[in-house]
Amino acid sequence: MSDQERIKVGQHIQEVEGLRPGAVRRTVLRGAQLAGLDQYLARAPLKSVRVSGELRDDGGHFTGDHICGTIRISARRVQGEDYGIPFRWGEVATVATSATTPEQAMQRTFVHELGHCLLYRLMEQEGREAVKALIKPVFREAVDMSRTVSERAEENWHEYFCETFSASVYHHRELTSRDPVGYRMVQQARALLEVDHGDS
Ligand SMILES: [Zn+2]
Repeated sequence: MSDQERIKVGQHIQEVEGLRPGAVRRTVLRGAQLAGLDQYLARAPLKSVRVSGELRDDGGHFTGDHICGTIRISARRVQGEDYGIPFRWGEVATVATSATTPEQAMQRTFVHELGHCLLYRLMEQEGREAVKALIKPVFREAVDMSRTVSERAEENWHEYFCETFSASVYHHRELTSRDPVGYRMVQQARALLEVDHGDS
């Protein structure tokens, strides 16, 4: 399928480090296409995607982060912890843990971090307070009503946005019934950034 090769280094992402072999690279980067960001990233490319064996901070191992257009992804994935956990709305640690393979989990982490990237760009465009005013009340209500997709989504409004964004990609139908307000929030963010839904 030529579709799998649509996200191109040098076009959608300026540089990619540490993603070998090619099949893994295609699987992970395909997340941007599944998220309907291919045309958007062609206009506004990511700076870089860096994959490494392990990412650690004071809190221990973590699976990925986003800083100013650079996304880092950890390749260290433990079955039953980082992937391979049956999806149940509101009961999983993160949307990524329900991936069935390490590569799919890395892809889901990539999509979550793309959410952080969109949020960052939205704050640059609209101002931090305006974005907070848009998302934080939706987050609070979702937590109060137990509508959040994952434990991570309950942490703060940033994580709520990114996990809801991931849910819009991987659990779209369930999102529209379980957290329709969150779904509309994601759609609103996409509209503000003029993110189209690709050709697919
Ligand atoms: Zn996050």
